[in-house]
Amino acid sequence: MRAGFPDFRLGSVLATSFTGTLSERHGDAVERIPTPHRLVDWLAVNGLAVDSCTTAQLELARELRESIHAAATAAAIQDALPASAVQVINDCSAQGRAAAILTPEGERRWRLSSASCVEDALSVIAADAISIIAGERDGKLALCASPTCQAAFFDTSQSRTRKWCDMNTCGNRQKKARFNANRRKNPTPA
Ligand SMILES: [Zn+2]
Repeated sequence: MRAGFPDFRLGSVLATSFTGTLSERHGDAVERIPTPHRLVDWLAVNGLAVDSCTTAQLELARELRESIHAAATAAAIQDALPASAVQVINDCSAQGRAAAILTPEGERRWRLSSASCVEDALSVIAADAISIIAGERDGKLALCASPTCQAAFFDTSQSRTRKWCDMNTCGNRQKKARFNANRRKNPTPA
């Protein structure tokens, strides 16, 4: 980890973990991949290690991220998918040459065509976004109930009633806010 940069929020779904690299979108937004190096770090922790990243590749990554966010949000509220977002996702998916590799232990890994090919890594993320937006995977897209967040997340809970993108951040903050509001309403006499 590089010091001085905001931490990553790690989720179990690649595409929505990626959109989570910009958090608090409706509040004081936090950019978690502010430099090409931070995108390299993020890709490494998500099994898509690359050697390097250019400013142009970071821009492309952010464009893909915002497109996934827009399309996933539309899907969550059952709105029409924005055509421009769909185009970016499809272009990114088509541009990459990543191969799924089965390890001797029976795990799937991604092999990129070259270690400098950020586009390959982005194609894996785009394909992941396509599979959740298309409803191919077991789960449901929903929007975080925190008003300053409203991130699209993939709810795989049995009841499909998860309210927050992340229990440790948005979930906890909301609980605390409710607790403080109750205290203001019912102050304990001194
Ligand atoms: Zn949230």
